[in-house]
This record gives sequence, structure tokens and C-alpha cells, in this order.
Amino acid sequence: MAEESDDETYCLCRRAYTDGDFMIQCDICKDWFHGSCVGVEEHQAGDIDTYHCPNCQPEHGPLTLKRRRNWHRHDYSEINDGEKAVQSGTVVFVDNLKSNKKLCDDEVMVYLHGSQLTTQYFEKHGFSRPIMIKKKDGLGVKVPSPEFRVCDVEKYVGPLREVDVIDVNRQDDLLMKMREWTEYYESTGSRKKILNVISLEFSNTELSELVSPPTVVTRDRLDQQTLAGQPP
Ligand SMILES: [Zn+2]
Ligand SMILES: [Zn+2]
Repeated sequence: MAEESDDETYCLCRRAYTDGDFMIQCDICKDWFHGSCVGVEEHQAGDIDTYHCPNCQPEHGPLTLKRRRNWHRHDYSEINDGEKAVQSGTVVFVDNLKSNKKLCDDEVMVYLHGSQLTTQYFEKHGFSRPIMIKKKDGLGVKVPSPEFRVCDVEKYVGPLREVDVIDVNRQDDLLMKMREWTEYYESTGSRKKILNVISLEFSNTELSELVSPPTVVTRDRLDQQTLAGQPP
């Protein structure tokens, strides 16, 4: 009867589930494990085919990963993918892009000086071709110094700040703490997957003092009201 109290405890640590903990279930013993106790992070879970917990591994061997079946889809373990289109951002897509010289051609790109990027420019020419601005002079954009690093962002927004991250290959969203993101970002030699930060709102932190957007964005309304009648 004493075991009854174990009903709601899990894992090697025999602790309860707390809201927000990432947990993974063992495919052998069916117990649940805290990712942090067994060294599995949430972004790795999508790649695991069968999970074997530390208790079951001596007998059943290590966990198995999903087999890569293709290089042109984000879900690389997708079944019946043979005839599906190449998805943007996949290995095949990037290879095709690199071999397509025309993409960097003047026929496709528009090259402007920063000061030419104005509301009037967009009114006259629209925005139907990619615009390349090689230097930020004249854009009115403010960014931190080149020495500013991801760990400096962490100092400004705090290590526990949650950031929206996407697993690029799987197109899965997940939340990471800023501390975890910095560790991932700096682990250049041992990255197993490509993660991207989707957004990090910092307008309510001191970081906002180091950054401002291009004039064409901030002056959009002002230009329309006061400069509309002036020559470009
Ligand atoms: Zn645990
Ligand atoms: Zn197990």
C-alpha cells in the first residue's frame, strides 16, 4: 500500500510533474522522465524514434533516432515524400539556390545606397524585387558595436527570459530560456540541429537604447504627412 503514494511521481528522481517541465516517456517501461534528469532536451525529442530510459538501456540498448529518408523536406522522416515538392530552406533547396547564378544578377537585384531607401522610392517603384544595401550608411539604423555578442543580449534581457525558437528542419516551434539559447549559439562545434530565434521582444529592456530601426520605417507616417509635396 505504501507504493500508492508513488502514483504521481516519475523519473529517476521520483519527483512529481510540474507544469512546464519537458518530459519524455520510455518506450519500454512506459515511465515518464524529466528531460533535465536524463539529458534529453525538448528540441531533440522530435528526432527520437524509440526512447529507452537509463533503467532500460542496459538490457535494451540506447535510444534509436528516426532515419533520414530525404533531403528535400523539413520532416526528413516523412513517409511517401518521393513526389513532394522541394521545401524552402532544406539541403536540396539551398544547393539549388547556390548553383543559380541568376539570383545575384542585376536583373533580379536592386542595389541602393541607404539614403535612397525612402517612402517616395517605394511609392514610385513598389517593392517587387529584392533590394540590396551594402552599407548601412544613410539608413538611419542604429545597431550595437560589432563586438556585441549573443551573451551580451543575455545580459540585457536576462538569462531566464523565454525566446521563441524554431527547429529549422522540422519547422517546430519551441520555447528556450535565453541562457539555453546562448549555450546553443556558442556550441559551434557540437550543434546537432539548426535552431533560429523567431522573435525576441526587447523594447521594454535597456537593449532598446542601443538599437533603432531604419528611418524609412520610423518616418513612414511623417513623410507622408509633411514631405509628400516636396521633391524627392
Ligand atoms: Zn526527474
Ligand atoms: Zn524504461
